[in-house]
Amino acid sequence: MSTTLVNPYNIILFNSKIPFIRGKYKNCIGLMEPFKDGEVECIAIWVHPEISEKNKLNTTTHESIHAAYPELTEQQVIDGADLIAEVLWKSGYRKVKSKKVKK
Ligand SMILES: [Zn+2]
Repeated sequence: MSTTLVNPYNIILFNSKIPFIRGKYKNCIGLMEPFKDGEVECIAIWVHPEISEKNKLNTTTHESIHAAYPELTEQQVIDGADLIAEVLWKSGYRKVKSKKVKK
């Protein structure tokens, strides 16, 4: 399988439901968009904030696979994300809430 994996790039993660309120992403829970900041390849990933933590792990994995392997079919991405997210979840990986910095 050929790979079009881009070199690590800036990754911007959004915990926002803004793209999912209306328009073509209305029924989506995740979204990935590649873009360039000058010569630097970047990806932006949105994950709907009102889904379960396990679903967020799956969705983040799913969108990351889209970024890494854009030639894969949607079903291949779904199958890969389901497996990877399940292995990570069963291994105990969970989101750690970051502490707020006092000003
Ligand atoms: Zn997808």
